[in-house]
Amino acid sequence: MQPGDARRRLRLLRIAEDVLGRAGYEPFETPVFEDTELFARGVGESTDIVQKEMFTFEDKAGRSLTLRPEATAAICRSYVEHGMHKLPQPVKLWTAGPFFRHEAPQAGRFRQFTQVDAEALGSDDPSLDAELIVMLADIIERAGAGPARLRISSLGTPATRARYIEELKGYLREHEADLSEEVRARLDQNPLRAFDADHEGTQRVVAEAPKLLDRLAPEDREHFEAVLGLLEAAGLAYEVDPTLVRGIDYYTRTVFEFESERLGAQAALGGGGRYDGLIEQLGGQPTPGVGWALGVERMLLAAEDEAEAPSADVFVAVATPDAARDAFLLTERLRGAGLRTEMEQAGRSMKGQLKQANRVGARATVIVGDGIEVKDMDGGDQRPAGDAARAVQLVYEVLER
Ligand code: AMP
Repeated sequence: MQPGDARRRLRLLRIAEDVLGRAGYEPFETPVFEDTELFARGVGESTDIVQKEMFTFEDKAGRSLTLRPEATAAICRSYVEHGMHKLPQPVKLWTAGPFFRHEAPQAGRFRQFTQVDAEALGSDDPSLDAELIVMLADIIERAGAGPARLRISSLGTPATRARYIEELKGYLREHEADLSEEVRARLDQNPLRAFDADHEGTQRVVAEAPKLLDRLAPEDREHFEAVLGLLEAAGLAYEVDPTLVRGIDYYTRTVFEFESERLGAQAALGGGGRYDGLIEQLGGQPTPGVGWALGVERMLLAAEDEAEAPSADVFVAVATPDAARDAFLLTERLRGAGLRTEMEQAGRSMKGQLKQANRVGARATVIVGDGIEVKDMDGGDQRPAGDAARAVQLVYEVLER
């Protein structure tokens, strides 16, 4: 992490908190590690995440634990464990923190990364899908990480998907010779992955493959149309992409992803979808849910660097060694009055101190020596202040100019 990165991350979290808070999403936290079983069941045994990317270890009691690779499974576990179905529905939660995936590190892809995650549980109302998508677009824009491309699709129900997967397998087998080795090897386990392949032959084959979107049951199609209608009403541009498969098993109906137009290979800023079967799969009542995760590091890579913000309103300079105590007290007093105040703490000369005051962006400098003087860093005029109270007053006058 570079100096300044943490400040940029905090700014992004504040934007997320503001956008999500206004829509009634409550902050929530889950542990950084969980039983391996939760992710194996929740994320899906056949996914890349579970097969290759989890940091799994045994504790002293021989239990298998895993550093969380994503947030949704644990939030659903909490929903069941804490009986959140008894609360008014939908339950809207968001969280942010570190996540872990064992992948080859490269630009925008890390083994420890940070996500902001938002989930709405307990209702399948299409306005929740749309609201979440609009909020993610809003955060991307306010963070300066746009423009981003929104791709969206629907995966229907598990039953529709199961029938479709058999159809797809049949089609892919007919064209097996043109597929990449990797896709061929996992054809039975996860034929949908063919749509993600970079391999040219595979891409040619899947371009002509039957599409899940054309096989949706009427109620799923209607749900999808309703989501798209609301996005249109909100003025949000999208591309329906029938080849969009997200690498996690729990998705049903809506899936979506935002891609930065500014990033290279790792362009996904965030994405998510609906997972109407997951809570039941984790031992709860049948409960719909929808959510997304955004990658904080990716967002910051895509965001234009903002100008360095000043860190102080006021600088307190120490003119003589005897004045250190008074300068310290005056600094505390200014901070108590709500002003961002820094004082000299590195033994600089007076010239060096004034330079430092400019560096931190202070608009007023209070010079404490035999007396107290307040200097306007823009205009340059310097006025004596009889005592500390008067100094605070003069500082305010300078700042209000
Ligand atoms: P996913 O659940 O895989 O779609 O992840 C959601 C978002 O998290 C992605 O769109 C990325 O922005 C981010 N992300 C996922 N994996 C990584 C990683 N290994 N390093 C950095 N960011 C990641």
